[in-house]
Amino acid sequence: METIIAESGLTFDDLDLAPELLQAVHEAGYERPTPIQAEAIPVALKGRDIIGLAQTGTGKTAAFTLPILNQLLGGPRRVRALILTPTRELAAQVRESFRKYGVHTDLRAVEVFGGVALGPQEKALRLGVDIVIATPGRLIDHMERQNVVFDDLEILVLDEADRMLDMGFAPQINRIVREVPPYRQTLLFSATMPAEVEALARKYLRKPVVVQVGRRSQAAHTVTHAVYPVSRQRKTALLLELLTRDQVLDSVLVFARTKGGADRILRELHGAGISAAVMHGDRSQAERMQALADFKAGAINVLVATDIAQRGLDIAGISHVVNYDVPQEAEDYVHRIGRTGRAAATGDAFTFMSPDEIAMVRSIERLLGQPIPRISLVGYDFGSVGS
Ligand code: AMP
Repeated sequence: METIIAESGLTFDDLDLAPELLQAVHEAGYERPTPIQAEAIPVALKGRDIIGLAQTGTGKTAAFTLPILNQLLGGPRRVRALILTPTRELAAQVRESFRKYGVHTDLRAVEVFGGVALGPQEKALRLGVDIVIATPGRLIDHMERQNVVFDDLEILVLDEADRMLDMGFAPQINRIVREVPPYRQTLLFSATMPAEVEALARKYLRKPVVVQVGRRSQAAHTVTHAVYPVSRQRKTALLLELLTRDQVLDSVLVFARTKGGADRILRELHGAGISAAVMHGDRSQAERMQALADFKAGAINVLVATDIAQRGLDIAGISHVVNYDVPQEAEDYVHRIGRTGRAAATGDAFTFMSPDEIAMVRSIERLLGQPIPRISLVGYDFGSVGS
């Protein structure tokens, strides 16, 4: 099995990291830095600004978490690093990385995101922290309440910058950056580099080093993917068929376009006796976290999600992604199937294509620069009888 990790010839000991961080990395079971880590960590340790072009699954989180911890070691307890992320889920995940790699340090990280009470976050911030991981809107709430000040900030990370801009966070980002010291290190990570992200980088980064993993827009290469031509009415039947026939039930992430669609799929799965949960914007934060925790723990086999789960989710060991609906943006296809291409995991990505979605699949193929293989199942293909 070819993994992304295999490409880097360095070992972690070659990187100039403090012993307590190396120990944590070894305990995490990592043998070698991934390419983005091998390239970004030495540059970040020198204090340079970085544009990291990497999607999730490449090890990008550790690529900024480790140098930040290294720089903050032994310093005063002030907020010296801020990581902005587009979603609550990603914030929680980045927080988890800081916990994992910082386990032998006394550095404190806290995450603040919307949808939950302000009080506990306020308390945590006021207790004194070194690292804040935040979604932009909620962070501004705390800034306005004077719960956090950034006078001592040394490192700013804009994680999944393309996604943050897609979600309309540009005004909030501008507002936040205005209130942090101009003399700082800025690390920007993005899966793609549209003009808006380039403009953001020009505005806020100083002589950045560009670190790029793989060809731009390339799908994570441990993934094998296929398109199933199927009539719209037969999609659920096809899903159930694939889930049961191939016994691939261990952990399947299903993407649906709409909340209603996701709920409908969930009902069908339950009806067929398959353990599943749903994750979308109408569910409370607690419900979403619970669904994710159950999925990660293997308590449920199928997680049906709308776009909120699209990026940044670290679901180790996921076996399959199913695009029940073809993603409307070609770029999103790459992000979605990035879910299964995570370090050391392989997975299959299946896309259900009804006749009205043929053009969207073509534009994905243009972006990938290659055709996606078609698999026709008799009885499901929209060309066949019974569809
Ligand atoms: P990320 O792209 O940051 O979301 O990380 C993807 C996954 O790879 C996470 O589950 C990490 O725990 C894992 N990972 C990160 N760095 C390494 C490494 N050097 N070796 C093996 N796994 C890693």
